[in-house]
Amino acid sequence: MKIGIDIGGSHICIGVIDQNKIIDTVYTNINIDEIEDIEKFIYNNCVYGINKLLLRIHTTIDQIEKIGIAFPGKVKDNIVYNLPNLGIKQFNISKELRKIFNTNIIIQNDANCAAYAEKILGSMKEYSDFIFLCIGTGIGGAVINDNRLLTAKRSTGFEFGHMIIHQNGRSCNCGNKGCFERYASMKKFKKDVKEYLNVDPNLEGEKLFEITYNAYKNNEITKLVEDYIEELAFGISNLINIFEPEAICIGGGFVYYKDILLERLIEKLKQKDYIMDKDEEIPEIKLAKLGNEAGVIGSVLI
Ligand SMILES: [Zn+2]
Repeated sequence: MKIGIDIGGSHICIGVIDQNKIIDTVYTNINIDEIEDIEKFIYNNCVYGINKLLLRIHTTIDQIEKIGIAFPGKVKDNIVYNLPNLGIKQFNISKELRKIFNTNIIIQNDANCAAYAEKILGSMKEYSDFIFLCIGTGIGGAVINDNRLLTAKRSTGFEFGHMIIHQNGRSCNCGNKGCFERYASMKKFKKDVKEYLNVDPNLEGEKLFEITYNAYKNNEITKLVEDYIEELAFGISNLINIFEPEAICIGGGFVYYKDILLERLIEKLKQKDYIMDKDEEIPEIKLAKLGNEAGVIGSVLI
């Protein structure tokens, strides 16, 4: 058995994995504005969650082959760096956790984990060349080329969310301006919807989707959706021009909003306004199948 942990911009999901299947999970929300010490918060919740799962499945840490932890940041020598959405510069959580849990603890980049999980178990099984895009609080990405995960030599690389699509644009947590994720993340989309419809800024989940979907059906947010799709298509077209993938797999919070956004995105890409090769079909655009589980499973698969 293995334990996989996915740390996102707004959640911690811890799961026990047996034979590539999650058999039990513990989920915690991260309300970043209400947390004083985020590193301590993550550490405490990992310890609590792992112990809780071990108790629930009546096992001990000796039976756990490995703990994998997926983070939305750069990973080098098992230390994670630069988590702008969590306000963390450097975090050596494996060293701290190893003091309590005597097993292999491996830190990974979350987009790499999710891409790998989709390749092995999810919607990308048949594809050997694809881009995985996690559109959630930010935008993360990974590239599978010829069935292998492309990796950068110095650190994680492939920071698609931070490719600059507007000169002197909006300020990003990374320190630059005009980054793709400042225009096309789900966080940005939902923030715009909430402001436009004048709903509680803290509203999330099913209720927010319902309100958004109804407003979309009643043509109240057509312009807002079009503007968002324009930004998203702009960034994705750049990636298509660079990598020429067979498929693009989209995960993250985008998946929950598929009924509003997916078809519009495909239509927009098919117009090929920003795509170089006008004669080729655009890549297949597919949704990630494993949802929030991708990071948890992927963190122990790589
Ligand atoms: Zn940025």
